Amino acid sequence: MSGAGPACKRSCGPSGSGGTLARVLIATLICSDEDCAQEHDLVADDLDALDAAACACGCTLVVLTISDWSPAELPLLV
Ligand SMILES: [Zn+2]
Repeated sequence: MSGAGPACKRSCGPSGSGGTLARVLIATLICSDEDCAQEHDLVADDLDALDAAACACGCTLVVLTISDWSPAELPLLV
């Protein structure tokens, strides 16, 4: 069979509604200065924000790990 399936008329369009999910990233970064080596846990909504992050000592941070974090599934930590 060929041709577009009519079943997908609205629900799977490319410009669907509700695209603003509150998805965030949790990243663990470490200072690039070996004498500092301070680890930072940052929460950001995109990678650009992580890219702009810097250690308090003025050195750049290197990303160690990044994980997706959905606030809806956030366990109660406190
Ligand atoms: Zn540092």
